Amino acid sequence: KEFAEVSIKDIDQVAKSSFPLCMRHLFEKLREDHHLKHGGRMQLGLFLKGVGLKLDDALAFWKAEFSQKVGAERFDKEYAYSIRHNYGREGKRTDYTPYSCQKIISSTPGVGDHHGCPYRHFSEENLKAALSKMGVNSGALENVMDKVRNRHYQLACTLTFESIHGSSNDAGINHPNQYFSDSHEIFKS
Ligand code: SF4
Repeated sequence: KEFAEVSIKDIDQVAKSSFPLCMRHLFEKLREDHHLKHGGRMQLGLFLKGVGLKLDDALAFWKAEFSQKVGAERFDKEYAYSIRHNYGREGKRTDYTPYSCQKIISSTPGVGDHHGCPYRHFSEENLKAALSKMGVNSGALENVMDKVRNRHYQLACTLTFESIHGSSNDAGINHPNQYFSDSHEIFKS
């Protein structure tokens, strides 16, 4: 399911209310550092494409951040291509699809990388802090951590969703864009 509603002007608001933790983390790091390494750019970039960010908006969005770090000229030279590539406008012209949870969970972020699944790749301490910041209450937090310790990362994400939205998610989370669309459904009603 695709969404065409998300534009740059409400992206911060939407990130706060409806992005799963993996994407919130990348989004916040991008805003903070004005930079993301390749793995992060792919994971977040394809997710944003999936939520309906158009190519022109995507270019403007990434450029606004990267310009502050590397300058507009270097952005145009070194980074714009891969964004157009993700939208199928360069190279083999494949229309790349956003990553599933399974793919993200099995990725192997290195030092300085911010991609991956926080339930799998964060330390327990960092994960707890991030979940509290997201608004998960202490009772639910223990249940989430319990799933994490048993390596049920998608169930942990599902419990987070349920806690934040105050609504059950019977299908369970298996894709970041599904998390987004399920959240969007709740907030628009
Ligand atoms: Fe993202 Fe999926 Fe991990 Fe949730 S379970 S944080 S949606 S990769």
